[in-house]
Amino acid sequence: MFNWGISGSLVNVIRRPYSGFYFSPDVKAYHMVVKIKDVPGSLSIVLSMLPDVIDLVDCVSYSLEDGTAIWSGFGRSLSPKETEESLKSLMMRSPLVLDCQVKESVNGVVIDSFHKGLEVAPNRPAMVLPVAGFSRICDHLARILGTGGETVLFEEGSALGKLTGRFLNEKLGKGKLDMRFMAALGMYRASGWGSLSIEVERPGSKFRVTAADCPECADAGRDRTECGFIRGHLVSLISMLASEEFKSEEPRCRLRGDKTCEFVLARQEDKMAGRRTGARAGR
Ligand SMILES: [Zn+2]
Repeated sequence: MFNWGISGSLVNVIRRPYSGFYFSPDVKAYHMVVKIKDVPGSLSIVLSMLPDVIDLVDCVSYSLEDGTAIWSGFGRSLSPKETEESLKSLMMRSPLVLDCQVKESVNGVVIDSFHKGLEVAPNRPAMVLPVAGFSRICDHLARILGTGGETVLFEEGSALGKLTGRFLNEKLGKGKLDMRFMAALGMYRASGWGSLSIEVERPGSKFRVTAADCPECADAGRDRTECGFIRGHLVSLISMLASEEFKSEEPRCRLRGDKTCEFVLARQEDKMAGRRTGARAGR
């Protein structure tokens, strides 16, 4: 079983806190944004200016397309004398720093007021939605529309999988399908699509994906028997990566009492072994 360097233990799921804000009721905190020249060493220089004045608690950095980069982080003040202006002038001392914004906490909370959302790919905005909300929408849709609702979920999952597959095809290049699919699932796992692990049953041809905490059935009721959105997504994703249609089934599902959800993805000519009663194939 391939686990991409992370513990596959079902009881050891680690999730990263969402970092659009920081609570600090006992000490002043800051959110800092610095625009720097995107050259080797510039990020290290920014970080090296902070240890005496700021206890850094969370940060992120990324390149823009114009030869610059953004560093953004939250930190707790180490001195009551610190101000927004003093921090800003400290960071502007480096010739590699082009611009800087600093915001101090108000009533124990400081918010990232610089960013206006997230994106999963260039010009593809994303939002943070609690898994329970997504799961309940799927549940509600299937309850009201029955098999029609399941079809909508599969097709919408599939449409999204095609879009993402097209983007990842460009990014992941032309290596072996097994490795590119593993890399893609590693990205999905880090983005909250469940603790996905993958077993290559036949290289380039048949894969078994296990979702220890599948988001689709995380908070579902009693009306569903499969995770069609995720299955549609995975089969379209791998079809795009392989440039060939795959078929799919979900032989195990938490909605049918199994401990995990399991998705089998295979080339059209491959056999779909391991199917249980109630699993739905193809489409
Ligand atoms: Zn499932």
